[in-house]
Amino acid sequence: MLVGVISESFPSEHRVALVPAAVKALKAKGVDTLIERGAGIGAGFGDDEYTAEGARIEDDRAGVLGAADVVCQVRTLGANPRDGQGDLAFFRRPPFEQTLIGFCEPLTDAAPLQRLAECGVRTHAVELIPRTTRAQSMDALSSQAMIAGYKAALLAAGALPKLFPLMMTAAGTATAARVLVIGAGVAGLQAIATAKRLGAVVSGYDVRSAVKEEVESLGAKFLEIELPHKPVGDGRGGYAVAMDDAFYLAQRQMMTAAVAQSDVVITTAAVPGKRSPVLITSEMVEGMRAGAVIVDLAAERGGNCELTRADQATIHRGVTILGPTNLAATVPAHASMFYSRNLVSFILHMLKDGRLRDDPSDEIIHQTLLTRHGQIVHRRVREVLRLPPLQSETIHT
Ligand code: NAD
Repeated sequence: MLVGVISESFPSEHRVALVPAAVKALKAKGVDTLIERGAGIGAGFGDDEYTAEGARIEDDRAGVLGAADVVCQVRTLGANPRDGQGDLAFFRRPPFEQTLIGFCEPLTDAAPLQRLAECGVRTHAVELIPRTTRAQSMDALSSQAMIAGYKAALLAAGALPKLFPLMMTAAGTATAARVLVIGAGVAGLQAIATAKRLGAVVSGYDVRSAVKEEVESLGAKFLEIELPHKPVGDGRGGYAVAMDDAFYLAQRQMMTAAVAQSDVVITTAAVPGKRSPVLITSEMVEGMRAGAVIVDLAAERGGNCELTRADQATIHRGVTILGPTNLAATVPAHASMFYSRNLVSFILHMLKDGRLRDDPSDEIIHQTLLTRHGQIVHRRVREVLRLPPLQSETIHT
């Protein structure tokens, strides 16, 4: 089996799908690797490092796509709808089987996914890897969100006109910055840990009360707020479930004081497949001190703050609001290293007798399978994208 890697064409995407160490790991299982020349440069991995591990280098992008049985990308067309289009012409067409693995943004827009499907490729969306113990080593969403959480705390520290730690000096005492992290999932917990390491006084909040202990174990305070009714409960796999507007309204009212007292607010509240809940209104921003900073990690899905603009810095009455959407790409060496390990683990999980098996009884294979035989075959994705149901023998959950 031949696994191919092409360079990423999305603007400012410096990650690469497989790092040189992956070449060795795959080779040990009889899988060869073909890398587009320069694909790893942005992440700090030279072609010679790939060849030293046994990869072949191909000058031509089309050559990689035309030869590989499995193509690994960070962003497939679904997550790169404008710049990824040029690759469509080069995918192998049926009867050749070709599998594409990468981020697909499967719950966002049907059009690019349909175009991928029409090429005949079998696509696995890494976002759909279940958050289970068995699939932990393949969980690319978590490995990349962890990096985003870390970088969010650094961005906040860089933008805040104050120090994060308490400093007692001959020139006076600087009190520690107060950081509030809303949403204590993967990114939020890492933001809490990083802000704490930098010396800030940190609080965390989440609708899932199950994370209280985790927040406290990082040395942060868990913000308890009284709400008119309890959240319906934890969603599957550590994800939240969507709540109604009355709930979010009450939540905003109860969080107003905590937001006003914070120097930094990092928001990461997300519900899979839904727009991000608005948790910070303009009025709440106006209640913050001038110089305060909000880093909104949910910017890509509309943002947790009403004033967030994706990939822009907005200054409102002295408060800086940052909405970065691709933070993992700003730490490309380690982000690629983790992502690459996720992919190798995923490929090896599917590998049998020199090919990728298609086993409907395996939840990891089954739940990630997005396109097959010219169609989007994932039931939930079809529902979210408002596509009509398929015949039962072709659908996936
Ligand atoms: P996650 O599902 O692990 O965490 C989200 C958390 O938000 C959950 O713990 C959930 O319970 C909580 N939440 C949901 N609604 C809430 C509410 N109303 N109030 C408080 N908490 C609430 O997701 P994650 O992997 O940590 O990612 C978090 C967000 O960061 C997502 O929007 C994701 O798309 C985004 N993200 C951004 C970048 C970037 O570069 N900007 C990178 C990775 C992830």
